[in-house]
Amino acid sequence: MASRNPGKLAELRRLLGGHPWELVDLDGAGFSGELEEPGATYDENSALKAQAVCSATGLAALADDSGIEVPALGGWPGPASARWMGGAATDVDRLHGLLAEVERRCANDRRARYVCVVTLARPGRETVSVRGETSGVLVAPSGSGGFGYDPAFLSDDLGITFGEATAEAKDGVSHRARALAALLVALDAERA
Ligand code: IMP
Repeated sequence: MASRNPGKLAELRRLLGGHPWELVDLDGAGFSGELEEPGATYDENSALKAQAVCSATGLAALADDSGIEVPALGGWPGPASARWMGGAATDVDRLHGLLAEVERRCANDRRARYVCVVTLARPGRETVSVRGETSGVLVAPSGSGGFGYDPAFLSDDLGITFGEATAEAKDGVSHRARALAALLVALDAERA
């Protein structure tokens, strides 16, 4: 798994727990390099990360690139969701920073969506990328579950924030779960 984000790793491990794959993180795969996200799109960044780890390790590599988008702000922060406040900012800084921007610039339209692109790169096989989305509204933070922007993301599907949701409830509707479900469909279609 081409990530060092513990929140994401925990989710991907849970979501793939029922499948007969052994999942190792970057350290477990002997990959000590940094993974850059130089692209302007989720697809580019996800594919670059998966392919970099696949070619360095010779193993099938799964990567994701994800973010939160506010349609009223033209989809901002999007693929820059982890970086838009600079390297020193924490998840909590970004959560409050995003809410402050929404309050200032589009307080009457607080709709948001999470987007996730998952890529599987395999030695000698075609790389597969798929996308998942989940929609909601940005509200005052509530709950301490999930990670990143979750306490402020009131899910349309659940009627509570991802911070208030159990891991299982988030897994039922999340952008990452939907992308992984699409990946499994794509892999099944390959075998058919
Ligand atoms: P990246 O995919 O490593 O570029 O990081 C995506 C960033 O988007 C994360 O650091 C979070 O800020 C945000 N994000 C993506 N998915 C989620 C999620 O499921 N919950 C909360 N924040 C998320």
